[in-house]
Amino acid sequence: MILVLLGPPGAGKGTYASRLSQLLNLPHISTGDLVRDEIKAGSGLGMKVKEYSDKGLLVPDEVITEILKRRISNPDCNGGFILDGFPRTVRQAELLEDVAHVTAVINIDVPDEVIVERLSNRLICRNCGAIYNAKYLKPKRDMICDKCGGPLYRRSDDDPEVIRRRLEVYRNETAPLIYYYEERGLLKNFRSKDPRAPPELVVEEILKLIKEPPER
Ligand code: AMP
Repeated sequence: MILVLLGPPGAGKGTYASRLSQLLNLPHISTGDLVRDEIKAGSGLGMKVKEYSDKGLLVPDEVITEILKRRISNPDCNGGFILDGFPRTVRQAELLEDVAHVTAVINIDVPDEVIVERLSNRLICRNCGAIYNAKYLKPKRDMICDKCGGPLYRRSDDDPEVIRRRLEVYRNETAPLIYYYEERGLLKNFRSKDPRAPPELVVEEILKLIKEPPER
């Protein structure tokens, strides 16, 4: 099964993908994490992608698709995978079709004001990637991960101005994918009635959507 989680930055894609990954026993592939790993490694490619990611802009389609292809050629992806943050443009969706057949696309719809509030308070564990919120999902100890004891940090692109740019990029470049996948009968819309609903309840709803027969 190849699942795509579609939605603006801050929609909760990372949180839901990591839970779905455990429940479905499929690797969770976040292209944002792959980009950050590349930057951390200090490779030539890392320096190139950093210029885009620091500004909240998309890495060129061909470059990000190569990074993704390298990851999904790993044997752990043979039984399928969950994509978080890819594709982000129609061109990327087309390039993905050359190498993988998407089973379903979950479109997570969240109002802008919730996104800005979520991202500007987001805390991430440097060690295990667990996600917290400085207002609504606080760790038990200040800036320390409940799960692994690792240090928490704020992403540099979770700054209000960069968040606004990322939302604009989403609307212009990524939102057209909603129609792209709708036309192919792969889209499942998920709109949380309560944006602060616990992730386990949201994931239950997403699992129900995945099991529904495709709309044709
Ligand atoms: P994310 O963690 O998904 O918000 O991604 C962080 C940054 O990595 C983005 O702002 C982009 O610069 C880059 N990035 C991640 N995924 C993609 C993608 N599919 N296409 C282009 N750039 C991406």
